[in-house]
Amino acid sequence: MEKLVNRDFRRASEFFSPVNLPLLYQIKPLAKHYDHMARYFDQPRLKAAFTFQDVYMGLSPFEAPATFSMMPYTELAHGVWYPRGGMYRIVESLVELAQAAGVEFVYGTAVAQIITQGKAVRGVVLADGRTLQADAIVANADLPYVYQNLLPPNGIAGQMKRKRYSCSVISFFWGVDKTYPELPPHTLFLADDYRGNFDSIINDLALPQTPSLYIHAPARLDSAMAPPGEDTITAIVPVGHLDETGEQDWPAMRAQARQIVFDRLAGLGMGDLPAHIKFEVNYTPLSWRKRYNLVKGATHGLGHNLTQLGYLRPHNRDAHYHNLYFVGASTHPGTGVPTALVSARHTAVRLLEELEIGD
Ligand SMILES: Cc1cc2nc3c(=O)[nH]c(=O)nc-3n(C[C@H](O)[C@H](O)[C@H](O)COP(=O)(O)OP(=O)(O)OC[C@H]3O[C@@H](n4cnc5c(N)ncnc54)[C@H](O)[C@@H]3O)c2cc1C
Repeated sequence: MEKLVNRDFRRASEFFSPVNLPLLYQIKPLAKHYDHMARYFDQPRLKAAFTFQDVYMGLSPFEAPATFSMMPYTELAHGVWYPRGGMYRIVESLVELAQAAGVEFVYGTAVAQIITQGKAVRGVVLADGRTLQADAIVANADLPYVYQNLLPPNGIAGQMKRKRYSCSVISFFWGVDKTYPELPPHTLFLADDYRGNFDSIINDLALPQTPSLYIHAPARLDSAMAPPGEDTITAIVPVGHLDETGEQDWPAMRAQARQIVFDRLAGLGMGDLPAHIKFEVNYTPLSWRKRYNLVKGATHGLGHNLTQLGYLRPHNRDAHYHNLYFVGASTHPGTGVPTALVSARHTAVRLLEELEIGD
């Protein structure tokens, strides 16, 4: 964490340094995660249990650097954490802290354009037509989207097309009119054809025939997550990202994914679930793109393969516009709420230094 995640790599020499050479041995970036687990386990199910976490980064363990074995380690050594009040409570807490520090939020409109002048950015034009002036801009929207949609066209927008992107997910959020106490807070179904499942997602950009999937029942941890006598269930099915050819049939894949989830849960004795769903919200890669401007609907942003990590990931300050900064999943260190918050710390420290604000 100290040598890789919690460090902001502003210069190549900070990343490609002799001091970091021992890391090549210690954190195994050159070994594939699944292959590396074969040194510890013979059983395919154990290898799967110690590698499936790579999907949190939108990666296949057959491609991911063994460095990501830090994720199963974290789960086992530190546990899985649930923010009381739900994930959105983190956002609300940050908003409260920011407002107390004098931050003013503008809701209900998007940034349509970043205004540039020479080698500086000067402000933003909002979708409602207003213009806001700025001494510096921190862009939290997906970095490839910012280059492709908010800035004047330049070479970097083209480079973003050639980058690799993480996988996506089809997700279902169900409110149900009864409780399912037999369903624990976290349930993971791993595909029997573990390798084929990832090949289908990463190489074919498809929904696997028998996908691995994750079910979350938050009311088990926090009774406020459902009315008394009722339940809420989230199902997440990893799939390929948008392939831009328009050949993927998302309504069909969504229907297929829903049925696969029902079949899997029927195996736990929840065969009556479809009859008890009061409402459903679902997302496909098309929704992730439309709603959050995620390029290719890739839910974890730019891919986390070796050539897109650390100093090789897009930097948190633009090379041309000296006062344009970035945060979020497509910057270093990468995807995930804690990780994106680490990127925010790197950017905040840099911005304060470079604008000579504070002590
Ligand atoms: C189904 C699912 C489950 C997940 N579960 C977990 C989990 O349990 N734990 C975990 O740590 N991570 C989880 N993640 C990953 C986590 O949500 C992301 O890695 C994280 O939210 C990335 O943060 P970010 O700030 O980069 O992007 P975002 O959280 O997407 O924030 C970017 C914001 O910018 C806004 N925006 C985009 N374009 C514009 C524009 N033009 N103008 C104004 N605003 C704009 C977007 O609307 C969005 O609100 C999950 C992701 C998914 C999809």
